Amino acid sequence: MNILKVLVVNCGSSSVKYTLFEMENEKKIAWGIVECIGLPEACYRRQTIDTAGRRDYVKVTNHIEALELIIKNLLDKKVGSITNKNEIAVVGHRVAHGGIKFSKSVLVTEKVKEDLKEYFTLAPLHNPANYAGIVAIEKMLPEIPSVLVFDTAFHQTMPDYAYMYAIPYEYYERDHIRKYGFHGPSHSYVSQRAAAILDKPLSELKLITVHLGNGSSVAAIEKGKVVDTSMGFTPLQGVVMGTRCGDIDPAIITYILNTYPHQYKNSDALNSFMNKKSGLFGVSGLSADIRTIVEAIKAGNRRAKLAFEMLCYSVKKYISAYYGVLNGVDGLVFTAGIGENSPLVREKICVNLQTLGIEMDLERNNTLSNGEGLVSVPTSKVKIMVIPTNEELMIARESKACLYGRQ
Ligand code: AMP
Repeated sequence: MNILKVLVVNCGSSSVKYTLFEMENEKKIAWGIVECIGLPEACYRRQTIDTAGRRDYVKVTNHIEALELIIKNLLDKKVGSITNKNEIAVVGHRVAHGGIKFSKSVLVTEKVKEDLKEYFTLAPLHNPANYAGIVAIEKMLPEIPSVLVFDTAFHQTMPDYAYMYAIPYEYYERDHIRKYGFHGPSHSYVSQRAAAILDKPLSELKLITVHLGNGSSVAAIEKGKVVDTSMGFTPLQGVVMGTRCGDIDPAIITYILNTYPHQYKNSDALNSFMNKKSGLFGVSGLSADIRTIVEAIKAGNRRAKLAFEMLCYSVKKYISAYYGVLNGVDGLVFTAGIGENSPLVREKICVNLQTLGIEMDLERNNTLSNGEGLVSVPTSKVKIMVIPTNEELMIARESKACLYGRQ
């Protein structure tokens, strides 16, 4: 008998990432990425549970060709992981923006696809690519159902006073301008793991989850439901990130527009300023990667130190604010590239938060490597945890639950 398999697909603007899971033991059996789609340096990296990693340059001009390559590889007689397309029970697509219509995962229908198109403008880099992937999979695997899992959906439980911006109300009604929040599958996954580590049901917990990667966001979660999160209408708001500015005074943008009209002629230039040229990279002038920043600090680089301190300070402010929002916290979780791998960042964020009952065990924090665990002292009121995120698994679980109906 075939074990239930779920294929998770994540179409970015110029890449397609995938993971095939066997759901019985939630085991990853094949995974990879086609990168730089449409460019001469396009390449396909892949691995399976039985075969070593491989990387080839490939000619792929669009998402359809990338997915064709992936499905062909999964079916390959020698290195493939399935013998028949029908072994895939469901395809789970990661979708960046679900707007106000999608508060949970959905099975793909014609109506769902039409509704999704409405949100192209809310995530112009991601949603059209996600859509292209959905259509491509439908063509290639017409018998297999697809489920959409939204980055924004987990945050749909926020109260209106948290998600509204204090701008004229008609922009909310007409244009749906409000806070949506992102990294939903990651916040959701680590909150479930935190409950398991703390050995308590989610319904009894107040958690702050800190996803620190290239993009970063913080979420306040009460009884398994998000009550606030740091990212907003787009993934630009919130803490200082690799190349994104996070929270700034919006008047800076009109000032720049007025002061440098030739350099910033349109929204693309301004978007690039805020999304690609700011953050750790913009302040340090060096890199968006925290590892390079830390090395530069050791070499005495002043601006690298400033960028590092700004990032940690911005996260500390959100944690402190959400402590108040939640009226106390049981667990603080660090996850994603920086959250999982940089003890220095975790330490700098948590230092001097003992008033809130957040007390880190510096030794444990330093020695925990590549894994899950508690890094607070046993007497810390707030348990500090490092939990590797697993967004793909969360999407696979959601897709399975959506296909078979939630319990
Ligand atoms: P993500 O977006 O979750 O993949 O995170 C990517 C970021 O995590 C990188 O830009 C680095 O700043 C950081 N990162 C990844 N690996 C490490 C590591 N071993 N040590 C410190 N930081 C890391």
